[in-house]
Amino acid sequence: MSVAVPTELLSKYDRPGPRYTSYPTVPVWTPEVGDAEYRRALGDLARLPEDELSLYLHLPFCLARCHYCGCNSIVSRDPEIIDGYLDHVERELGLVTSFLGRKRRVVQLHWGGGSPNYLDESQLRRAFGMIRSAFEIEPEGEISIEIDPRIATREQIFLLRELGFNRISLGIQDFDRRVQKAIGRTQHEHPTRELYSACRDAGFESVNLDLIYGLPAQTPESFERTLSTILELRPDRVACYSYAHVPWVRPNQKKVDTTFLPAPNDKFRLFQLAVERFQAAGYEWIGLDHFARSDDELAVALQRRSLHRSFMGYTTRPAEHLLAFGVSGIGDLANRFVQNDSSLDGWQQALESDRLPVVRGHRLSPDDLLRRESILNLMCNLELPFDLTSARFGVRLHEALREELERLRPYEKDGLVRFETDRVAVTETGRFFLRNLCMELDAYLDPTGGKPVFSRTV
Ligand code: SF4
Repeated sequence: MSVAVPTELLSKYDRPGPRYTSYPTVPVWTPEVGDAEYRRALGDLARLPEDELSLYLHLPFCLARCHYCGCNSIVSRDPEIIDGYLDHVERELGLVTSFLGRKRRVVQLHWGGGSPNYLDESQLRRAFGMIRSAFEIEPEGEISIEIDPRIATREQIFLLRELGFNRISLGIQDFDRRVQKAIGRTQHEHPTRELYSACRDAGFESVNLDLIYGLPAQTPESFERTLSTILELRPDRVACYSYAHVPWVRPNQKKVDTTFLPAPNDKFRLFQLAVERFQAAGYEWIGLDHFARSDDELAVALQRRSLHRSFMGYTTRPAEHLLAFGVSGIGDLANRFVQNDSSLDGWQQALESDRLPVVRGHRLSPDDLLRRESILNLMCNLELPFDLTSARFGVRLHEALREELERLRPYEKDGLVRFETDRVAVTETGRFFLRNLCMELDAYLDPTGGKPVFSRTV
């Protein structure tokens, strides 16, 4: 369905803002949460032996750095560095399980990076084996991996399936050659199509393709062609991320020629095009920027209102706690966020002295938990029910966040939300401004704008 969004609204709401993969967001976290607090969190988790776990393993290695990259990646051609990295992951697994005991139940495992498939066969087997011997992975669990198709082979895809991965995500970004040149990433269409077929032949339950809109040299015509190719492939899911140009955080982005970046209105049009094309092809628009075939469990979870959003994106299997391993990994457990050191040396040195390599984090207060639940509801279910979380926190949303709800009134005038008797509902137009709506519930945002740490919302 095509929604006409007036340009005035775009200029009014185009401002820096978080993407809310967490609340409170990372810039709010402090170095006071380190090794000692993580030990306490793990101690608390050990007293909840029945709680299910999600695991994240960060494998940061890549062949070369793409100009637009916003991930914590390490360019290396030295296999010994990767072996050494895995030695340290093994130490980290040992330290964490010394608190929890071995064989805690895991319902979700995700490998991200970097390019996890930069590891060779023996390294992939070793990494998977280490996790399997430390945790009990549910046979029906979500076991997913992100891969760079440019370095993958058909054999590797079958190996990943054999190891136990049942979901796979292929980085595409854009098939247009001009765009690829502008972002320093050459990826030919034909081999990518062959690799996609290999994923289907290997029997992955879900194949996801990643796109990015707002890249340099992208035009509605070029993006339309990329979308047509994606739709021919019929992936189960597509993530269509907004390019966040933040060279002050990611210096590699200084290589992006900003004169080729689409203007905010043009960038918005690119995303609108994606929404139109995917919806017309029978995909459900999930939350902020994902699309799923209507038979995919993400779309089913949307209907059942059981969607969840975390650092790993939208998911259907929310475990109570997320444990992260590897450089820069972010955990979310026992009401704390913890982030590992982003520098390889720092992360390794901590582990060598038997310290947990956490350098920042946040302990969530009851107020944080209520706001977090509210933001999750907006991001997943596109609504704020007034009696939200009343059982969990003994407080009703419309009593605890009265002022914040009032701040949403002007959005109703702009047609972005609708106040109903029992909830605030996001309208079709409002879906494009979800981040802005969430910002009204954020107790930590600097109203003056402060230091520009976030990307722009449009
Ligand atoms: S392949 Fe992905 S993680 Fe690696 S540099 Fe390119 S964008 Fe970053």
